[in-house]
Amino acid sequence: MKNKKPLKLSVPSQVNQITSVSTATFQDGELHPISKEKESPNYIEQSEVDFEFSLEDLEAVKVVGKGSGGVVQLVRHKWRGNSFALKEISMQMNRSEEIQKQILQELRIHQALQCSHVVGFYHSFHRSRSIYLVLEYMDRGSLADVLRQVKTILEPYLAVVCKQVLQGLVYLHNEKHVIHRDIKPSNLLVNRKGEVKITDFGVSATLVSPKGQRDTLVGTYSYMSPERISGSTYDCTSDVWSLGMVVLECAIGRYPYMQSEDGGSCPDFYELWEAIVQNPPPSAPPDQFSPEFCSFVSACLQKETEKRTSSVDLLSHPFIKKFEDKDIDLGILVGSLESPMNFPR
Ligand code: ATP
Ligand code: MG
Repeated sequence: MKNKKPLKLSVPSQVNQITSVSTATFQDGELHPISKEKESPNYIEQSEVDFEFSLEDLEAVKVVGKGSGGVVQLVRHKWRGNSFALKEISMQMNRSEEIQKQILQELRIHQALQCSHVVGFYHSFHRSRSIYLVLEYMDRGSLADVLRQVKTILEPYLAVVCKQVLQGLVYLHNEKHVIHRDIKPSNLLVNRKGEVKITDFGVSATLVSPKGQRDTLVGTYSYMSPERISGSTYDCTSDVWSLGMVVLECAIGRYPYMQSEDGGSCPDFYELWEAIVQNPPPSAPPDQFSPEFCSFVSACLQKETEKRTSSVDLLSHPFIKKFEDKDIDLGILVGSLESPMNFPR
């Protein structure tokens, strides 16, 4: 296979307006440049850098994570020095057609997104047994990595995290008509500037895709909304439920359906199904948290979708507004932590 192709690599500089975007798409074993996006507010300003770019131009620095799909490494461009996250998705182990379709879906959806609260997708390469995604490197890892060190996150910082995730969700839901479907701590990445970005679109569904594709039961069960785990139809507000679960977990320091921090083994699928579908939704204890926070969690964790607040309306919720002009710097919190690479899982 021919490895080198002249490609334009877009490197994000500052949050402002998109000027232009270029990336490449993987199709039928070949890479093809994809078209530029129109100008739109609230997206990343991209400064274009034109240079030859191939997988061989990247050198591995360190493995930074491992998920069910494969390994994620910090890599560096050999001459230019840019850092990226290289996510390898192994196509070995006789991956089923369904999984392969999901992987290609992740590429298709992710490469079409340009938002300062969605992890940048720069490139994809196909080698015989693997697909490699070149992603924006988020140097403080995921919210799950942060939680492993701090155990709980205080309300002012949580408001800053929530606002950024909501901005990402509003972009996905309202601009791109995409339901993420796998919002969970390990898919919310953080960098030293205190930016929070959504990643992993392997199980995302565009609202315009055929209904059948949207109804398959994929994604992480623990953060799934009642309508999703019970196999009913669902909409963008299922991501809002997942966000509510994540936020509550960050506040109380344990997965909300677990009784205590060391509350024994993780619930299995049927226990989870019973808890999520049959029990009242979890809530923030009002004696430990502000009324605004309790109300925010409750607005997310409504079992009936019609009663759940949309991502766009949550952006103006009193909990988010309360800390907006307080200049809370999440960068200080995450900057004080051990790098996830040095912190054992
Ligand atoms: P799952 O298998 O359920 O998807 P996961 O989300 O943890 O779990 P991956 O998406 O493969 O699996 O990511 C593994 C870990 O790698 C993440 O938890 C995070 O710590 C790290 N990681 C992923 N993407 C990046 C990135 N762009 N920058 C920095 N670290 C990343
Ligand atoms: Mg992930």
